[in-house]
Amino acid sequence: MLYVSTRGKTDLFSAAHAITRGLAADGGLFVPQNIPAMRMVDIKAMERKPYTERAVDVLLQYLTDFSEDELRECVNAAYAPEKFGDNPVPLVQVNDNTGVLELWHGPTSAFKDMALQLLPHLLTRSMQKTGETNKVVILVATSGDTGKAALEGFADVPGTQIIVFYPSEGVSDIQKQQMITQAGKNVKVFGIEGNFDDAQRGVKEIFGNTALSDELAKKGYTFSSANSINWGRLVPQIVYYFSAYADLCKMGQLQVGEPMNVVVPTGNFGNILAGYYAKHMGLPIQTMVCASNTNNVLTDFLKTGTYDRNRDFYATTSPSMDILISSNLERLLYHMSGESDAAVRGWMTQLAENGKYTVEPEVMAKIQNEFAAGYCDEAAVADTIHKTYTDQNYLCDTHTAVAVKVYRDYVAQTGDDLPTVIDSTASPYKFSKSVLTAVLEGNTPQLDEFDMVEELHRVTGAAVPAPLAALKDKAVRFTQVCDRENMSQMVFQLLNL
Ligand SMILES: *Cc1c(COP(=O)(O)O)cnc(C)c1O
Repeated sequence: MLYVSTRGKTDLFSAAHAITRGLAADGGLFVPQNIPAMRMVDIKAMERKPYTERAVDVLLQYLTDFSEDELRECVNAAYAPEKFGDNPVPLVQVNDNTGVLELWHGPTSAFKDMALQLLPHLLTRSMQKTGETNKVVILVATSGDTGKAALEGFADVPGTQIIVFYPSEGVSDIQKQQMITQAGKNVKVFGIEGNFDDAQRGVKEIFGNTALSDELAKKGYTFSSANSINWGRLVPQIVYYFSAYADLCKMGQLQVGEPMNVVVPTGNFGNILAGYYAKHMGLPIQTMVCASNTNNVLTDFLKTGTYDRNRDFYATTSPSMDILISSNLERLLYHMSGESDAAVRGWMTQLAENGKYTVEPEVMAKIQNEFAAGYCDEAAVADTIHKTYTDQNYLCDTHTAVAVKVYRDYVAQTGDDLPTVIDSTASPYKFSKSVLTAVLEGNTPQLDEFDMVEELHRVTGAAVPAPLAALKDKAVRFTQVCDRENMSQMVFQLLNL
């Protein structure tokens, strides 16, 4: 399997190259030249396999420059029971036809672990395959969860250095504490004065500057990315759609071959795009429902065909979805436009220059045939957490609540009641304050966010993930906040350039 850039499809690259580089040299994203097909018998056979073997099956289709044994080593290390428990991705039935896929049983209690525990293994092996002897510098822009998950995944991985930028006022206290207390000799964390999009733009600029990367290469460094623009981040996420389907079949909710819907709380469009790849590999997904918070740029795009980032930015209680530029949409546009790298170049130029673009009706018709979209405001997020807890005895976090609410609206509007998987992307304890406030209908006790964890546990009895319980007493290592204009300078200083 070879990879091309969404902005120039003539050059072909290996998976190892795509993973080592993160972003293509022309600024595009790496995509597989074609989407491999999975046979229904192989999907059926997954019913009897553990998650790690389901992962090997899927990864083998895409990472053809890895051997089966290599991939097995990678996934066994990434999804080890010490990190994820016995079942990395439990599917919890909350009613007859709705299952919640809990993607947050990894070390940082958010779904990013699904990809970021595996990526370092894929990356270090990719470096060996491409003959990369430089030290890889992982630059991460984070809206909160990626940063911690990447730090946790890369800490003390030989041959790597990781630098994380987070919006200093845009993450929860717990997210911040998780990052600024990170252990590891090769890690560095900066707050920036700005929002996630500013952080992401800064990182992309550093990547896109070829003069700079040539200079770096001379000094023995290569940049790479752990953001979901990296194919090595995206490909592990395809696995859990297959896994959820296999579990539904195993539980007798579906016969193999029958369709399901999926609902995804969406920010950078990585998670839902992984569902798209699963579907186009042959997994019977009928509709993918894209759920946004008040930052509903994707809802508008999927309904109208115009992507317009010129709008107010809201800091919400689901900060990992506070995004106005969803980078992975570029990959969807590439596939949906009949692999037109020229069209993608045009749209992305318009986005960079005017902050908006409009996709032709024929392309939109194809997209709307597969995706539904909706958004959820802040009051509805709190109301949904409360209702889901009291009516269904299920405690969900703010991001998951967005998906639950958008799904309810979707069913009310369409009557589509196919068996459905709702992605749950964070432990409720990661956003204890918002969740507790919702559960208590606004009667929030005056506690700091760490005592909120204990209080939420006292009120609901739900188990607290061990790393979150230990967080409060960890020593702070990183306090620096930098201007968004100075990100590249910080990187240079740090690398002694
Ligand atoms: C990152 C994240 C999302 C958004 O996922 P995308 O792949 O960026 O769409 C949703 N919820 C949580 C908790 C996250 O950490």
